[in-house]
Amino acid sequence: MTDVALFTPEDIAAGERLVSRPWRFVKGVVALDGLPDDGWLEVAFAGRSNVGKSSLINAMVRKSGLARTSNTPGRTQELNFFVPDEDPLYLIDMPGYGFAKAPKDKVETWTALVRSYLSGRSTLRRVFLLIDSRHGIKPPDREIMEMLDTTAVPYQVVLTKGDKINVPALAAIKAATEKELSSHPAAFPIVLATSSEKGWGLPELRATLAAILRD
Ligand code: GDP
Repeated sequence: MTDVALFTPEDIAAGERLVSRPWRFVKGVVALDGLPDDGWLEVAFAGRSNVGKSSLINAMVRKSGLARTSNTPGRTQELNFFVPDEDPLYLIDMPGYGFAKAPKDKVETWTALVRSYLSGRSTLRRVFLLIDSRHGIKPPDREIMEMLDTTAVPYQVVLTKGDKINVPALAAIKAATEKELSSHPAAFPIVLATSSEKGWGLPELRATLAAILRD
């Protein structure tokens, strides 16, 4: 369940080189004035709580424990910035959204921070919007998509936990998701299907990051 054909061997190799760097956590940002101002490119990972975001980031850079799971206290309401050694790129782990039990004031703080970050960040090259393969795009995801369409921030959907459904079902949800995205102006037309557990789609995701850095 991969789309390696979409990438050249050079892209895949560049992605592997990028993740072979020692990645590290730089800072957790709770307010806009804490954002770095060095002009480095940024890619952000967003998704509903429990979508598999920490697992995907950790598997992608092959460093378990880099991104903390949403069950870890602290860090979860922050924009967490990670860097690969030597490359001027920030990977941002955004707080998960759509958690039913979150207190209202927490949700409002999250929404304000995320909205202001997403609407005015010229260095932000792409948002990877993670969607659980079993559930597909849900109303809270659509709210984020509309925000990104409005602010013209390019985004790409990444299906997570692909191993939890069978291969035809994964192909079907990928096709349905791409169909829905075709009417969203800021959405990248190709969806990446992944499984952190099986390693599916990770070479493509790494290659995508490397291509963003190169361009
Ligand atoms: P987050 O809240 O979005 O950061 O989600 P986590 O990365 O903490 O994952 C939530 C749960 O889903 C955990 O129990 C993970 O072990 C599980 N999970 C994450 N990715 C995968 C995957 O690719 N396959 C399977 N089977 N489970 C996964």
